[in-house]
Amino acid sequence: MEGNIHSIQSLGTVDGPGIRAVVFMQGCPLRCGYCHNPDTWDRNGGEETTPEAVFQKIRRFRPYFKKDGGITVSGGEPLLQAEFVKELFALCKTDGIHTCLDTSGCVMNEKTDALLEVTDLVLLDIKMTNDRDYREHIGCPMEKPLAFLDELEKRDIPVWIRQVIVPGVNDTEENIGRLNSLLKGRKNIERVQLLPFKKICTTKYENMGIPFPFDIYPHCPPETIERLSALVQI
Ligand code: SF4
Repeated sequence: MEGNIHSIQSLGTVDGPGIRAVVFMQGCPLRCGYCHNPDTWDRNGGEETTPEAVFQKIRRFRPYFKKDGGITVSGGEPLLQAEFVKELFALCKTDGIHTCLDTSGCVMNEKTDALLEVTDLVLLDIKMTNDRDYREHIGCPMEKPLAFLDELEKRDIPVWIRQVIVPGVNDTEENIGRLNSLLKGRKNIERVQLLPFKKICTTKYENMGIPFPFDIYPHCPPETIERLSALVQI
């Protein structure tokens, strides 16, 4: 089987527990206003490769993973190439490597079901907390990630929830209140991470000749993340 990957980051520390190899897949059906990786949107871009070839690369970093680390597959949206990621994760599990999926949760089908069978942890973006904002700023209805979250709860797969905080869009106490309501009572959620919006991708958009939709919003200061994180209840 062949698939398309954007790149592999050898020693990541922000996408899941411990030290991890992070594989960025090509292809994304969404268009988040703050996306840092518009160069991953094209499903047919990047490098063509096989799960076996990626696994052999990942194995070289195994000594660095120690007890907590492992592999994280991100994107783009890895669920678009669920069969490829499933094969890659299955290979990792034969070698005792912890598997983590970083996703928007916007795709669900038989292939994504099979992928979840070999997934140890999910980093799930709940990108907004109302349907209007989801449709306007992200490009899908809110029911999709919530249905994915329900599926993870049903399967009792541990989840870390993530949300990028953008001043002027979702940096309010009301937003965190709605997030708390959406997550309330779900036993498989291990943590909630609020991440600051940063404009570190303007050049990518310029190079691609497309507008950066959230260029109109300012960076999110650390105080905002601190203040809102204190309101999160799980
Ligand atoms: S889901 Fe990720 S890759 Fe896709 S548009 Fe949103 S931020 Fe970009």
